[in-house]
Amino acid sequence: MISASSISEFLYCPLKAYLKYVQGYEISSETYLIGKLTHELFRGFNEITIRNLWSLDPTMTLNEISSQLWDDVPSLIKKIIYKKDYRDIIDGETVKEIYETLEDQFKLDAFQLVFKSRKMLNMGMSGDEIADILFPPAMVEFWMESRSLGLRGKVDRIEIEDGAYFPVKIITGTPPVKGVWKSHAMQLVAYAILMEETFQKEIRVGFVDYVLVGERKPVMISQEMREEFYNTFNEMESMMLEGYVPEATPSGKKCKKCEYREFCEYGDG
Ligand code: SF4
Repeated sequence: MISASSISEFLYCPLKAYLKYVQGYEISSETYLIGKLTHELFRGFNEITIRNLWSLDPTMTLNEISSQLWDDVPSLIKKIIYKKDYRDIIDGETVKEIYETLEDQFKLDAFQLVFKSRKMLNMGMSGDEIADILFPPAMVEFWMESRSLGLRGKVDRIEIEDGAYFPVKIITGTPPVKGVWKSHAMQLVAYAILMEETFQKEIRVGFVDYVLVGERKPVMISQEMREEFYNTFNEMESMMLEGYVPEATPSGKKCKKCEYREFCEYGDG
């Protein structure tokens, strides 16, 4: 069974996928934990903000809404970021950097929500109606598996709007100038294919959320993208079944942050 995230890793560097999935090297790396930590913080921020929105009242001023929406957010960030699992692996400077970046991002998000909420309150909406509109129903970390395809994956979010389903991948890195990185696009195609089998719905578009820069980029799930996905899938399947060593795609920046660099001849740059 091939996972959607392993397809992304194979596209990042086939040798990295080989070291992980064929050689079986498992690493609890800093990069992995930073991603996990950031996901946990965004999930927590959304949950607290929804709860805070429920308590809005039509008489509140902009300042009161602002403090209501920020209620418990700093303590949430501190509580998660200083958890032992993370603290033991991620160095202190990086933790501080993540803390400051996320606090700024959450402040910006909360600031935008203050004005939107005030406008909606003026229109006569209640706090829970506002929460439903600003945070539409979504399935979070939804697990899917297709035995017939030999594919599985856990998508970060599935958003549903007017009966249409959209896979969303959350990314903590930065986006390319144009579009999204190929590895992320192919991972979305994998989720779209799994969702089509799970929900019996055609999936035409997915999104990559670059949360640290507050940017959402769409990915069209076209026929061409599907073909490209299956080519990669077949290549990866042969690597896993036949155990051949694929060509590496080294590059300075990429290798420098690769968790498998100590097992790879290109790891020293
Ligand atoms: S160090 Fe570079 S070449 Fe080696 S596995 Fe990692 S990304 Fe690939």
